[in-house]
Amino acid sequence: MASPEVDLVVDTLAGILRDFGRHAFDLTRQDARRTQAVFDQWAQHVVVGAEPPGGQKGAVAGLAQRQFSALRSFFTQHRRIEQSEVTASQDALRDVVWSFVASLNRVTSEDQADDAQVNTTLKSLAEAVDKPTVSPNDIRRVALDAVKAIQALMETRAVRQARQIEELSTRLASLGTQLEVARKESTTDGLTMLFNRRAFDDQLSRTSDLTSLKRSGAALLLLDIDHFKAINDTHGHPAGDAVLKFIASTCVRTFKRKNDFVARYGGEEFGVLLTDLSEAEALSAAQKCREAIASSSVVHDGRALTATISIGVAPWRVGEDVAAWLTRADAALYRAKHDGRNRVMLG
Ligand code: GH3
Ligand code: MG
Ligand code: MG
Repeated sequence: MASPEVDLVVDTLAGILRDFGRHAFDLTRQDARRTQAVFDQWAQHVVVGAEPPGGQKGAVAGLAQRQFSALRSFFTQHRRIEQSEVTASQDALRDVVWSFVASLNRVTSEDQADDAQVNTTLKSLAEAVDKPTVSPNDIRRVALDAVKAIQALMETRAVRQARQIEELSTRLASLGTQLEVARKESTTDGLTMLFNRRAFDDQLSRTSDLTSLKRSGAALLLLDIDHFKAINDTHGHPAGDAVLKFIASTCVRTFKRKNDFVARYGGEEFGVLLTDLSEAEALSAAQKCREAIASSSVVHDGRALTATISIGVAPWRVGEDVAAWLTRADAALYRAKHDGRNRVMLG
């Protein structure tokens, strides 16, 4: 018969085993309920000698036959499994937070939003994750702080982006006005008083931008005086200049719509930009200009000088850059020359 003191010790040990089992947590290989059942079975064994878990030994009567040494090694083994799983899950938490830190760093650096508070929070988060002594609770707390700080940054960024979009649309709206303003501000060519090459290049990009936004029609025309060298050679350079001026003023007269843009592109070449019109309308405008020049003359030094021009017409195309647009107009002009001059070609 055991003494009351021994009974008390045995009951206490059984109570500890039951309590331990009741607060078990899920492990990879065994869920909490199963662990609790095993601990309960050990408690029964300790108190009344019931069959212990494992099933090799049956029930026993006396206290001396109870499997205290097997209980001890079972307990040690169980605790080791628990310890390794807790460590592993903390490591997993660290990994998750690390990748979170990395992606946040990417986001913030992408937008170059050097928010000092966020940087500090991210730093302390990184430090917390890196220190093995910091508890998962602390990591969680620091991670939540980081989330809050980043949220605040995102909100600021959203406001900033909304403002940028607004500014962009205002700029877009004023682009049309700029086209008009640019016409007046740009430098002109001294001889013909047309816009010069620089003004033409600027206007060409603006027209390309605006046309692709509006998806309206536009056309680029390159005009070149036919056999101009011969005019110079026959009548002299001043006569050539007079012809240049005459052709310039005829172009301005024939391309007369408000937004038609006529420039001296090179020596005896002109560039014309026509907007908000169809391909057929662009071709017809080009023909009118060509005919007007071919059918009139300019008097210089008492002599009536005549000239003809060849024109390459390139209607605007979706997605084409300015350089390609120019090349297409130039190729059309080249064909107009090649086909006999004094004609309009579509590029
Ligand atoms: P094509 O029909 O193939 O265009 O023949 P072209 O003679 O017009 O062409 P070319 O390129 O052989 O000659 C262009 C001439 O234009 C040569 C140059 O002296 C003349 N030129 C360029 N700028 C001026 C200028 O400001 N004033 C005068 N008078 N002549 C100029
Ligand atoms: Mg030429
Ligand atoms: Mg020429």
